[in-house]
Amino acid sequence: MSVFVSGATGFIAQHIVSLLLEQNYKVFGSARSEEKANKLMTNFGNNPNLTMVIIPDISKLDAFHDAFKIYGREIKYVLHTASPFSFVAENIEKDFLIPAKNGTLGILESIKLYAADTVERVVVTSSFAAIMDLRKILDKTATFNESTWNPDTWETCQIDASFGYNGSKKIAEEAAWNFLKENGDFVKFKLSTVNPVLVFGPQTFDSDIKSTLNTSCEVINRCLNAKPDSPVSNFSSQFIDVRDVAKAHLYAFQNDNTIGKRLFMVNGDFNEQDIFNCLNADFQSLTGKIPIGVPSNGVLGTQMGAFIDNTKTREILGFEFTTFEKSVHDTAEQILKRQGKF
Ligand code: NDP
Repeated sequence: MSVFVSGATGFIAQHIVSLLLEQNYKVFGSARSEEKANKLMTNFGNNPNLTMVIIPDISKLDAFHDAFKIYGREIKYVLHTASPFSFVAENIEKDFLIPAKNGTLGILESIKLYAADTVERVVVTSSFAAIMDLRKILDKTATFNESTWNPDTWETCQIDASFGYNGSKKIAEEAAWNFLKENGDFVKFKLSTVNPVLVFGPQTFDSDIKSTLNTSCEVINRCLNAKPDSPVSNFSSQFIDVRDVAKAHLYAFQNDNTIGKRLFMVNGDFNEQDIFNCLNADFQSLTGKIPIGVPSNGVLGTQMGAFIDNTKTREILGFEFTTFEKSVHDTAEQILKRQGKF
């Protein structure tokens, strides 16, 4: 039973690949370069169940064709995680919208062409960005749940990089559901999506700790690098742990109660003060080196803005999500250990 994981070198995807290999699946992973593919193979101890393919740019609609032409008959499950994730862009269409949309449509088209009878389940890594309206995130009268959608379009999301990234996830997810509506008679697969908020947690491999981390973990890394007199910003968001997100991807293709569903992965609101509260409480080595701020300004356990409701997802998955404290602790501990500051 083989699983294809696009963007296997990513922060979330490496956790997914790790769980898949633990459960003895044969995994085909895509990476943008030989170098990144080889590094991942080495990190996974050259596990014979892991085969890497090189797909340099998912913006090309036929990017996945060669891989599926060769391996498609062996692939039963497809997890499409590859998509640009950043809040900086020079060109929103080129950097976000085109790779997100074409990557999703491209892999589904490759399945249709070369693995229509073999692929049974597809899980697309979407995002809270596809569920929410950025203009209403601090509006206490708004609700976001598994059935709500980001209202932005290709045109309206091009205001700035945040709207652009969010729009890319909405457009890509919508394209996946529409593809299935239009091609349901020609493919066997059922679709599910995993829609996480900001994802924290350790890297699968310590060697991936660099001076700058992946976009979501960089939020914690920035706090670790703050000076004691730096102001605590009013940044707030929602969190989920990467280990729960990875588990949800496996659950999604292993169970029928996820068919046609969006798994909305969120475990609460937080602000930057909450991160400093955790870091100051947990790591003596940071005393006097990072800001204390005003500890009572934390928002953990309270509703910051819109009502965020993932009751349905929690019922489907049936497992407890990792707490904010553990997620921040484990993220920071790995960074500090790697820097010899633990
Ligand atoms: P990463 O940046 O670590 O992973 C993104 C993956 O996509 C990498 O493998 C990256 O390749 C690949 N990729 C990006 N752009 C392209 C492109 N143009 N062509 C080919 N491959 C590309 O981020 P995450 O692991 O955090 O994100 C994984 C998925 O989860 C994304 O779809 C993201 O939108 C979604 N997500 C993430 C959240 C988070 O907080 N982390 C929250 C909600 C959703 P390379 O390794 O070479 O850069």
